[in-house]
Amino acid sequence: LAYARSLAKTDELTGLLNRREINSLMDYEMIRAARNQHEFSIIMADIDFFKVINDTYGHLAGDQVLKDIARLIREHTREQDFVARWGGEEILLLLPETSAGEATELAGRLRQVIADHPFKDSGQCIHLTMTFGIACHVPGMTLNELMKKAYQASYMGKESGRNQVVIASA
Ligand code: GH3
Ligand code: MG
Ligand code: MG
Repeated sequence: LAYARSLAKTDELTGLLNRREINSLMDYEMIRAARNQHEFSIIMADIDFFKVINDTYGHLAGDQVLKDIARLIREHTREQDFVARWGGEEILLLLPETSAGEATELAGRLRQVIADHPFKDSGQCIHLTMTFGIACHVPGMTLNELMKKAYQASYMGKESGRNQVVIASA
């Protein structure tokens, strides 16, 4: 039963939290933040040119890349941070009690770790990058508004060349 419960909360491929689970955790964090007057941040991380990776190395290699990225991000985040697979190649991090500045530092470290990592595909070495959009929750902000800010920041990072960290303006 415990296994079934954990399956219901996680993504099959990567083992990260699934979208439904991170949504309910964010709902909970919104309530907690409002009650305790503290801030939290989210990071929307999107693989750059992932379609090209699939087209070049095949979909299975792409799947393995997703698994490796999930592991790398877990290894470089704190126990209390939540990491979810938001969509196909989008990873969403929920960082309780974390300021915009702290989230930016973390995203910067993750950006470097991913950019430096030699992803392996049957003897070949794949290099790739990710773009990170950051939004910090301020009192009164809805979850929709927060997500929108993170997405906007991510788009800005894509437009200005990818492989970077962009923080949404308050
Ligand atoms: P950008 O830098 O603008 O983000 O370019 P992109 O190619 O990463 O973006 P786009 O949204 O055009 O393509 C996303 C790709 O991610 C297309 C889709 O096939 C791939 N993808 C999504 N989910 C999976 C998956 O589970 N496995 C694999 N192998 N690929 C996936
Ligand atoms: Mg995407
Ligand atoms: Mg992408």
